[in-house]
Amino acid sequence: MNVFTSAYAPVYRNLVFPFYEGVLRRRSIYGRYRRLSEASALGIGELREMQRRKLNDLLVYCNEHVPFYRELFALHGVDPRGVFDVEALRAKEISTSKPIVRSAGESLLSREFVKEDLHNSATSGSTGTPVLFYMSRDNWCLRMATKYRSEDWIGKPLGTPATLIWGHKPGRTQQAVFKNSLYWAFQNYQFLSAFDIGEESLVAAVASIRRHGSRFIESYVTVVYLMAKAIAKYGLEPPKLDGIVVGAERLYDFQKEEIERSFRCPVFNRYGATEFSNVASECEKREGLHVNMDNLWVEVVDGDDRPVTGVVGDIVITDLENRAMPLIRYKIGDRGVMTDAACSCGRSFPMLREVIGRISETLKTGDGQEIHDMYFLWKLSRAPGLVRFRVTQDSLTHIRVEIEHDGSVDREATTRWIREALSDLERYRISHTLEYVDSIPLTGAGKMRFFVSELAGETGAPGQKTR
Ligand SMILES: [Zn+2]
Repeated sequence: MNVFTSAYAPVYRNLVFPFYEGVLRRRSIYGRYRRLSEASALGIGELREMQRRKLNDLLVYCNEHVPFYRELFALHGVDPRGVFDVEALRAKEISTSKPIVRSAGESLLSREFVKEDLHNSATSGSTGTPVLFYMSRDNWCLRMATKYRSEDWIGKPLGTPATLIWGHKPGRTQQAVFKNSLYWAFQNYQFLSAFDIGEESLVAAVASIRRHGSRFIESYVTVVYLMAKAIAKYGLEPPKLDGIVVGAERLYDFQKEEIERSFRCPVFNRYGATEFSNVASECEKREGLHVNMDNLWVEVVDGDDRPVTGVVGDIVITDLENRAMPLIRYKIGDRGVMTDAACSCGRSFPMLREVIGRISETLKTGDGQEIHDMYFLWKLSRAPGLVRFRVTQDSLTHIRVEIEHDGSVDREATTRWIREALSDLERYRISHTLEYVDSIPLTGAGKMRFFVSELAGETGAPGQKTR
């Protein structure tokens, strides 16, 4: 236990958070969080009614303020005033997707917002095709508040000491690193980089989590899984945790078992996406992932766009709240299983029994380090002129970077940008060659992988299994 972080937790929760957010910053996080917490107790009937009303408001809004949807609705004969259910949109074959977002460009932005005032996030799908998604400041606050609510559901109240092991923007200055640490420390978090996941770094991270007195870890599946293996291999004393929250990748049973065995605490699965932030998450009972249906309308559909329950289908999401860049019936490219079983926690929020997201691989270095494949996404996704990329590791000292270029800037400029972004691979003695290609083919599974390892022994993840 760390005296400071455990004493700070209730102070942050009851004093610092409400004062800082509500009084000092005058942001909507605190109010949003309180309203979301109240909604936790609503019955399914009330939640559905709220959803229907929000959908109708959204559609009417889009028709007025978002050129892309005005045109789409006109084309498909949709009168938004009478639509309260996604069923009606489905019947008119209304949907969006990442390629549509890419081609629609600014016509997807509401005319009521100024682009420069908006938050944005770069895509982090499995495709290696970066796309920017915009949200209003208030929507960003709502997303934070949703995160806090889902953490309440696993017995992690605001301010609980925790360690976040996550990616960060490339090329940060010392000052930016310090500011980032301060921001997280303020919330009683310790921030560690998810990019160095060699054994040495993982062993150091375990000690650091113990010292910090963290009760929870929040990270990518791959990172905590590798950490669990290091704990077992070296017989390390695990930190005393109440839980580990994982997201951003598919969680396999074998990984969950290994993590729980090493850390001696439960793993809580969370399904988040760049486009929507927190979509669904497990509660303390862990019987499925409760969908945040007061903000999002989540469907699982078959190949003919018909809703399915109990079997794997495509996940389709409508963001009921983000007015800046509304996403309606967005085919996110992940697959999942919707269940109509009720959770024994008593909350009415419907559940995804399983989410089949992306599979990760790691870049291996000559001295036995492993680097998470998200590294490349964070490093390269904002390169100018880049349409799509694929990194292939063909030896311990070399990677090939294939680039699809849109011609909007000189290739020279793109090359310089990428070389600079990847320059820190030199310390692992990994060189790279850049190759401009016309197109990057899909894998046999029909998915685009942005990182591929050709090293011997890289067989990828075990066969997909559905519980
Ligand atoms: Zn539950």
